[in-house]
Amino acid sequence: MKNLEAIFLDRDGVLNEDSDNYIRSVEDVSVYPFVSKALKKLTDLGLKIFITSNQSAISRGYFTEETNSDIFKKIISDSEKDNGKITDFYYCPHLPTDNCNCRKPKSGMFLQAAKEYKFDINNSVYVGDSVCDWETAKNLGIPFYLVETGYGIETAETIKKEKNIEVKTWKNLKVVVESFTQSSERRAKSTKKKNNK
Ligand SMILES: [Mg+2]
Ligand SMILES: [Zn+2]
Repeated sequence: MKNLEAIFLDRDGVLNEDSDNYIRSVEDVSVYPFVSKALKKLTDLGLKIFITSNQSAISRGYFTEETNSDIFKKIISDSEKDNGKITDFYYCPHLPTDNCNCRKPKSGMFLQAAKEYKFDINNSVYVGDSVCDWETAKNLGIPFYLVETGYGIETAETIKKEKNIEVKTWKNLKVVVESFTQSSERRAKSTKKKNNK
């Protein structure tokens, strides 16, 4: 993407291992080992980085807002340990039946970030591991990167089976980020060529 300004990341299954039983405490947090370096690269590319996460477990009473905040803090500090910088994070605490505007696949959290940090949502991409994430990107009309971590492999199979659509998968966030740095290196090279002629 030419004018890439921001990257949205789903949390569970993209940054940290997911659990079938929700991430309910700081002890459940396990950030993937490649994440902190990948975030550093994104930061060096000058991108704004956002986490967007559905956390209905709060409304379900599985944990409190305070625990939720501690879990985010732990994930963010582990993810930033190589000096990458997560610009901000957003979560939806509601139940599907609450019919809020923030729960993915709705666009609320993404549009809020674009408004707060003043960028064009069309200049962003989304990285996720679920069918819901894929639908979210479709609703926003932005490119989607399906990672194979978390539920990613199942997600590709489900979309193929139910919608007959082949979604390309990426091994993990690191590989997605490498594709960005390669395309920006290519751009830098071609700019150099132009300047040299
Ligand atoms: Mg996920
Ligand atoms: Zn919500």
